[in-house]
Amino acid sequence: MTEASDADDLWRLTLQHSPIGMALVGLDGALLMVNRALCDMLGYDAVSLSQRGFQELTHAEDLDADLELFNQALAGEIDSYRLRKRYLHADGRVVWGDLSVALVRAQDCSPLHFISQVLDVTEQHKNEQRLEAARAEVEHEHQTLEAIFEAVSVGLLLIGSDGRYERMNRRHRETMHLPFPDGHGGEAGQLGHVYFQDGKTLMAKEDMPSYRAAQGEEFDEYTYWVGEDPHTRAAFSTSARQVRGPDGARLGAALAYQEITDLMRAVHIQDKFVSSVSHELRTPLTSVLGYLEMLCEHAELPPDVTSQLQVVQRNALRLRELLSDLLHVAQVGEDGLRLQRAPVELVGLVNEAVEATRPFAEKDGIAIKVDAPHRISALVDEQRIRQVLDNLLSNAIKYGGTGGSVTVVLRQGDGVIELEVIDTGMGIAQDEIEHVFGRFFRGGEALDKHIPGTGLGLNIVSSIVAAHDGVVALESELGRGSTFRITLPQHAP
Ligand code: ADP
Repeated sequence: MTEASDADDLWRLTLQHSPIGMALVGLDGALLMVNRALCDMLGYDAVSLSQRGFQELTHAEDLDADLELFNQALAGEIDSYRLRKRYLHADGRVVWGDLSVALVRAQDCSPLHFISQVLDVTEQHKNEQRLEAARAEVEHEHQTLEAIFEAVSVGLLLIGSDGRYERMNRRHRETMHLPFPDGHGGEAGQLGHVYFQDGKTLMAKEDMPSYRAAQGEEFDEYTYWVGEDPHTRAAFSTSARQVRGPDGARLGAALAYQEITDLMRAVHIQDKFVSSVSHELRTPLTSVLGYLEMLCEHAELPPDVTSQLQVVQRNALRLRELLSDLLHVAQVGEDGLRLQRAPVELVGLVNEAVEATRPFAEKDGIAIKVDAPHRISALVDEQRIRQVLDNLLSNAIKYGGTGGSVTVVLRQGDGVIELEVIDTGMGIAQDEIEHVFGRFFRGGEALDKHIPGTGLGLNIVSSIVAAHDGVVALESELGRGSTFRITLPQHAP
């Protein structure tokens, strides 16, 4: 008797202090005994909770499932069951519980009562729902990206960190036969019918866009031709970006291939047109200039006719300059630039160019000075370098604004020559800096102020510098002025 009541006390003590909701449930579903945790969970005190049956406390939508298991237990089909279900809190809200029920039987096996344990899993349920929503969102995003990946008209390629092709979209698959008619091994850098912009020079492994990207490079607008047959080949402009994990580790690279065949062919036609028109115009113009020169030398012409002829001559000379600029860019576009290098003393060349410009600078009240050592010689094409100087100096004065200054700095470094043309003029907007070296580009300020020009000068400068294996850098600030810095190797490579 004492032993039994001891066990009973122990059981009550366990029940009361368990952190899990517990109840003794009668065979009719009434809660015969409840613990503190269950009261807290459902918002009742022990007395009012004990007056209720579990049916009343269960959410209507979960009741049938619970009753079915309850009845199966009573019918002796099962001894226990587990169910996740919704309870109704005293204040009306829903509480999720993880319910475990065991049927206690008497010695003659007749059912006595149930012992129910209920773990409050409301928070867990909310977290699961949040996780599910996040998973659905990720899946949706994945599906959207997948659809875009396949639908875009740009070829897309993903390369792993080992340089192997991981994925490509439909567009890229469709164009792979042009450079690789015999198939592709799926590894960056495989050689194929891939030519530089000139359409003639085959690319080496190190130049292939996929190889460069696999080596960790990022680039934009890398332009080249693919396909052996010049009539059916296609031109592409490619960009590459590195793909990194959250810890910054390199996972691979992504490449985007934009087909620009029509654009390249149009540029080619434009070059041909510019070149042939300039050629055709040059011959009659040379004749016009020749006759003008002879006419101007006629002493017996009335002075007003002579001065009118001189205006015609000036304009014809200007026209000749323009044609030679057009011919230059067309020639660079078609065959590249051929240099005639010879040892040239650059300080003298700079001084000559500055002196030729000085009258124009003085007319605008612009002070012009040279900062150079005594002598610097280099192996360059004198005519072309003179063209560079003339273009930069005439721009510095044209866009220099009245009363400013222009400084030409020439210095010699370690195997390189540095030439700077610095003006204090109108400067160039930041978003225009990357475009000023493009063909026919004219800045907004230049257009607003109706400053005449063709947009060819800086393009010519950059092509000449590039042909010398040099680089042009530009620093400029609107309203403050510009510095054009040219770095040339002193000797031909
Ligand atoms: P053009 O002078 O015939 O327009 P350029 O190719 O020489 O052609 O120059 C391109 C554009 O760059 C100009 O239209 C002008 O907007 C800008 N630019 C060139 N040089 C300067 C300079 N020194 N200061 C300000 N803007 C300049």
